[in-house]
Amino acid sequence: MNTGADDISQKVLWPHRPFPYFRVIILGCGEINVHFNQCAFQSMYISINVQIFRDSKAMTIRQKRGNIFMRRLALVFAVITLTACQQSPSPDASDIDSGKPFDVIFAGGSIVDGLGNPAFPGDVGIKGDRIVAISSDGLNSDDADVTVDVSGLVVSPGFIDNHAHIQTTIHEHPLAENFTRQGITTLIASLHSGDQPWPLDEYASSLKIAPNVGFFAGHTWTRMQVLGMENRAPDHDELQAMRDLVEESMKQGALGLSTGLLYVPANYAETEEVIELAKIASQYGGLYVTHMRNEATGLLDSVNETIRIATEANIPAHINHHKAVGVKQWGWSTQTLAMIDDAREAGIDITHDLYPYTASSTRSAVLFPQWALAGGADEFAERIADPEQQQMIREEMREIIMNDRTGSDLSRIQFRVLYSDESYNGKRLSDLAADRGLPNDIDTGIDLIIELQLVGGFSVIFHAMNEEDVIRIMQHPLAMIETDGDPVSYGDGFPHPRSYGAFPRVLARYVRELGVLTLEEAVRKMTSMPADQYNQKQRGRIVAGAFADLVIFDADTIQDEATYVDPHRYPTGIHHVMINGSFVIRAGALTGERPGMWIKGPARPERVTIN
Ligand SMILES: [Zn+2]
Repeated sequence: MNTGADDISQKVLWPHRPFPYFRVIILGCGEINVHFNQCAFQSMYISINVQIFRDSKAMTIRQKRGNIFMRRLALVFAVITLTACQQSPSPDASDIDSGKPFDVIFAGGSIVDGLGNPAFPGDVGIKGDRIVAISSDGLNSDDADVTVDVSGLVVSPGFIDNHAHIQTTIHEHPLAENFTRQGITTLIASLHSGDQPWPLDEYASSLKIAPNVGFFAGHTWTRMQVLGMENRAPDHDELQAMRDLVEESMKQGALGLSTGLLYVPANYAETEEVIELAKIASQYGGLYVTHMRNEATGLLDSVNETIRIATEANIPAHINHHKAVGVKQWGWSTQTLAMIDDAREAGIDITHDLYPYTASSTRSAVLFPQWALAGGADEFAERIADPEQQQMIREEMREIIMNDRTGSDLSRIQFRVLYSDESYNGKRLSDLAADRGLPNDIDTGIDLIIELQLVGGFSVIFHAMNEEDVIRIMQHPLAMIETDGDPVSYGDGFPHPRSYGAFPRVLARYVRELGVLTLEEAVRKMTSMPADQYNQKQRGRIVAGAFADLVIFDADTIQDEATYVDPHRYPTGIHHVMINGSFVIRAGALTGERPGMWIKGPARPERVTIN
């Protein structure tokens, strides 16, 4: 069965995954004469899977059928692994040594090192989970188990997503395909509005997933543990209870404190509450990251609030998805960036990130005054039933929609998921108005939004940003990239296209098409800059000794394919993605590997003042 043509894929797909003594599988396979080139255990494993699912014919169509192949492969592996592990634990990939200097050589690529240096041609050698050699003169393929020709392609550090909504659900999407297919190798869960895994260390250390992942202590979760949905400040004891929770999260490995001050119930918090909790995170070397209280009319106040928190809590701060939302706020990024620059000059450590789209995605709750939703759905319904309160709610909604959001044009409000009638998913509020024979105006909008909120509300895409602001923010030297994306099952629901395409979109539209960033600078914003944020000096860069988190793509063809109306589309032009020395994407096909590690906090260990 050993057809020389299959050699590379066999080794590259499953480097160094030993499965000792499971002869039934070998017998069942019917072939035991090959691949004992490193050790018996490993050879059995590789042979079985390649023989069953990969013949030379399959290799030629692997990209088209890659997913199907790999799912079948993963299934077979799971059975083998379980049985084998009962006899003997399976060592880590790096524990098996073929005797050669490299497991894999990526040969002939254009190396973009993640540090902003000019791209240069060369080979990259991988051993175990590390990059061990980089050579412009070329490495000897005899020194490697596998040499992958990547000529014409960019070899970049894997991308680090500063903000993904993976909360407590990433274990349900262990391959995180919509992220890894973007070249993302590390996901940071900033937990703006959602749940926090608890106990954090138990959850994070139990994960068996493809990407690396890091977690924050979530302000929203912390507040809800103590105050539920109550719209008030904590008393002395309650604040102490919140402090204790943040402290415990930090001790368990949180990267810092995150807030989602736009959302109920976090927006019931005064700035002082956040400062008190940020002080705890600061003492443990944490970073403060935030979805600011208001990204529209209150944008400038919100940047000031962030700077105040950073100053008074003595903590580095990072603004997630920096943007200027709402037609009236277009152009305000000039001011917000100046505020950030001034704060830096005053000694405040502040950074930010963005996703490269002109629409934002959130929940219909943000269209209401916060007091109207306090206490949950029943209390909201009671307030609407009261004519006086309903009138107040309507007036405040008008202000919010006209100034903070989309203005009076209901076509700027797109349903992502309308929970009460999913046939409207992807359609606009103006479509619903038209179907009812109603005009496209603000009064209709308020009527419909209240009606829909009473039956569960909706998740929403607001087409309310200006690309000039996006570019200005992206070009700022302290800006990084994020997806703000969700883990999604292919074809399931109606996600914002950023969940599938944010990182490739930066490289396609803003580097290649518009030329507003160089390739090297864009990659730096996606790699070493965020790596440094989270104290990952051995990630986000192609240097000897760094973790082998890599993405190999074609800079001429890389393209985000997902759109607002057709979101379930993977990007193209990304050939290989490696995480900790294991391929998770190989020649465009998912391998099923789960080499991800937990990126443990604190983000700024040098600032720890309490031990
Ligand atoms: Zn957010």
